[in-house]
Amino acid sequence: MNDDLLFRLIDSLRVLPGVGPRSAQRMALHLLERDRAGGRKLAADLTLALDRIGHCATCRNFTAQELCALCRNPRRDDGLLCVVETPADVLAIEQAGVFTGRYFVLLGRLSPLDGIGPEDLGLDLLEKRLADGNLRELVVATNATVEGEATAWYLNEMAHRHGLLVSRIAHGVPLGGELEQIDRSTLSLAFTQRQPLGK
Ligand code: ZN
Repeated sequence: MNDDLLFRLIDSLRVLPGVGPRSAQRMALHLLERDRAGGRKLAADLTLALDRIGHCATCRNFTAQELCALCRNPRRDDGLLCVVETPADVLAIEQAGVFTGRYFVLLGRLSPLDGIGPEDLGLDLLEKRLADGNLRELVVATNATVEGEATAWYLNEMAHRHGLLVSRIAHGVPLGGELEQIDRSTLSLAFTQRQPLGK
């Protein structure tokens, strides 16, 4: 190994979103010049996280355990289940502090053109949740995009087959808006003003 190691590090840092060649170079030099301890901690935490974090067996959110903290929390309302597209959506909703129920993370959205069907979204797992008898209301919080809306209608059909009340969060955002980018107060409003989805 030789000086190529520096270029290798710079190149590796570019895996991060929004990091171009110049930022990557600045980061690599910063760690080498000023914060080797921080760099070692970053490398160790990165390895640990990538090795240990998988998906919750119940809701598919990220967790290093069999069940995530939200699914293990006995104070959450088992009668409410909110379906979202990504783990980032769960974080956004939790930070808005408006929802007290449980979650289900699709890890995507229906998109026939990209070959993403119901089987890719863990809907068999969701079907079991809908059938377990504890649920009062399914809150559909997929994004206000074409795929998000198509997914919402699919979920609506599923929930109606189980005789469940289904609601869709009111998006106070332009069509095409992603949940993750909505500010907290708008997201709170979207939950409190959620509308029943018709058959
Ligand atoms: Zn979970």
